[in-house]
Amino acid sequence: MGCLFCNIVSGKIEANVVLDEQHALAFRDIHPVASTHVLVVPKKHIVSLADATEEDVEILGRVLLAARRVAEIDGVHESGFRTVFNNGPNANQTVHHLHLHVIGGRVMKWPPG
Ligand code: 5GP
Ligand code: ZN
Repeated sequence: MGCLFCNIVSGKIEANVVLDEQHALAFRDIHPVASTHVLVVPKKHIVSLADATEEDVEILGRVLLAARRVAEIDGVHESGFRTVFNNGPNANQTVHHLHLHVIGGRVMKWPPG
């Protein structure tokens, strides 16, 4: 039990890790919607952006920079990629540990559904 992404951060649950940094972990989404679909999570349990505070400013910056690095690793930094935080019920957040989707490798539509 407990938080799924905390269990991935601690290594209790396996994931395909792309990047492991001091404050952030990036791993491949189990149900990818594009050839690149990586989740970047803070190692600290933060439920969503709605729960982030001033204390988390460095962590949030590290999550964003980790997403840039993931895009470089997968070679989508020039072709383009989308970064999405789903927060709360209307955004269909299903895992309640903040995560940044990094999606790339195909042309995407806008606006999202
Ligand atoms: P959300 O809908 O909360 O923004 O995104 C949660 C994401 O986590 C989904 O894209 C889902 O496929 C992914 N996910 C759910 N369970 C697991 C898991 O056990 N491992 C990995 N790698 N991804 C997961
Ligand atoms: Zn957690």
